[in-house]
Amino acid sequence: MAGMLYLVPTPIGNLGDISQRCRETLEQADFIAAEDTRVSLKLLNHLGIKKPLVSYYEHNREASGQKILERIEQGETCALVSDAGSPAISDPGEDLVALCAQNGITVSAIPGPCAAITALSISGLPTGRFTFEGFLSTNKKNRQEHLALLDGEQRTMIFYEAPHKLTGTLDDLLHAFGPDRRISLCRELTKLHEEVIRTTLQGAVDYYAENAPRGEYVLILEGAEPPAEETLSIEDALALVAKKIEGGLSKKDAVKQVAKETGLSKNILYDEAVKL
Ligand code: SAM
Repeated sequence: MAGMLYLVPTPIGNLGDISQRCRETLEQADFIAAEDTRVSLKLLNHLGIKKPLVSYYEHNREASGQKILERIEQGETCALVSDAGSPAISDPGEDLVALCAQNGITVSAIPGPCAAITALSISGLPTGRFTFEGFLSTNKKNRQEHLALLDGEQRTMIFYEAPHKLTGTLDDLLHAFGPDRRISLCRELTKLHEEVIRTTLQGAVDYYAENAPRGEYVLILEGAEPPAEETLSIEDALALVAKKIEGGLSKKDAVKQVAKETGLSKNILYDEAVKL
């Protein structure tokens, strides 16, 4: 019988965030696939867990993915971890999950630390609808295309960013979304120097012109205002009424329909229509 693949999230800063279930899954797995085996070995040593480790990262994912799949098909259980946070979220794993799914292997994800969701929840910005944008490309053209696609995006947007690229990214966001757009800059989450700066894009650019960025960042950007509802003028609405009357409706029914379609007051529309 085939084994299975577990996605095991690991702490994004505070080792206390490893859950009992993650610990047990790592202990029970036949082997662990890790983004960087040295990083994961430190965690495993901390947890007192000894397991065979294989490397699975961006540049060996095809060859390594096939080997992992074969082992699972032969009955072994694999736990996948990344350096920090949830595997497959801006981290290796996405392809391995797809490969296993395509080959009928059961994949189970253990819930746990994810920088994006941790930051979103403390951002103070709307959390009802959001989009995860990950890292903006360092390629200028791709970056501009990505930002252009977000023009008018009304949902809260989540970006990952490294400290040395933060000021450049803030400049680009300011250019794309304007100075008054609210942003929450969440850094060093779950660590000693955890900080959330809730400001505007202009405020963020000004702040980091004076202060050097430190630590890993999640940027939570407010969505665009919905476009102002276009209100039809009474003259345009009356033209619609006239058209419907020409089409055979009674004045009363035409007014009723146009009021419903435009949101204008039925009484006002009727009074005006009577004057026609
Ligand atoms: N898979 C991970 C997750 O679930 O969050 C994300 C991995 S991605 C390669 C690394 C990025 O996550 C960092 O550049 C940063 O944007 C964000 N990140 C990770 N840990 C963080 C922390 N403690 N505080 C703020 N951002 C963090």
